[in-house]
Amino acid sequence: MNLILLGPPGAGKGTQAKRLQDTHGITHLSTGDMLRAEAASGSKLGKKAKAIMDAGGLVSDEIIIGMISNRIDAADCKAGFILDGFPRTTPQAESLDEMLDAKGLIINYVIEIVADNDAMVTRITGRYTCADCGSGYHDQFQKSAKDGVCDSCGGTRFNRRDDDKEQTVRSRLAAYQEQTVSIITYYRNKGVLKSVEGMKAIDEITAQLNNIVGQRKAGIEGG
Ligand code: ADP
Ligand code: ADP
Ligand code: ZN
Repeated sequence: MNLILLGPPGAGKGTQAKRLQDTHGITHLSTGDMLRAEAASGSKLGKKAKAIMDAGGLVSDEIIIGMISNRIDAADCKAGFILDGFPRTTPQAESLDEMLDAKGLIINYVIEIVADNDAMVTRITGRYTCADCGSGYHDQFQKSAKDGVCDSCGGTRFNRRDDDKEQTVRSRLAAYQEQTVSIITYYRNKGVLKSVEGMKAIDEITAQLNNIVGQRKAGIEGG
């Protein structure tokens, strides 16, 4: 089963994709995470990407499409994958269709997490992750049970993204409005679009997603 999650920065794509990955045994592919790993490696490509990301702009289609195409071919994507952060523009959506066609794959569902853009600034500026296992948290909305200790792994070191600052968030929200909203129509016209209510509680959204994709446990479903 192959999915695309759409929604503005802060809608909960990463949070929900991790849960879908655990429940359904399909692999979470975040272009943002891939680019941050590339930037952390200090490669030439990573440096170039980091400058664009810190300004809230979009990295070139060529880089993104090549990255995704390679990643989809890996063994851990055979049972399925969840695209988070890609496609972001109509040309990227068209390139994805061509790429999947050539690989003999399809997207089963494109799910929009519908969220109120104004609320996303608070979501993003309060976001942090465990440095050891990547679990996501929020200063107000998703605190760990014990202050400063990760619920999942007991880690005590946390990261905040360099681009999760108010001004950058506003540029990213504007970029979403200008360049990404149109692909919602693209997928609606193809008849594969579903939506969930992103302003609900995290668990409620997970339940809505499981209703769409089915309650199947990892390994039972083939593709
Ligand atoms: P995205 O990947 O779409 O940018 P994230 O999954 O990283 O969004 O979520 C952004 C922040 O908001 C995180 O700190 C997360 O803990 C929090 N969050 C996610 N979903 C919800 C929700 N439904 N209600 C409140 N906070 C949420
Ligand atoms: P968020 O979780 O807040 O939605 P992401 O982690 O998806 O943000 O993306 C962070 C940054 O990485 C973007 O602001 C952009 O610079 C770059 N990026 C990620 N995915 C893409 C893409 N598909 N095309 C171009 N740039 C991308
Ligand atoms: Zn952890």
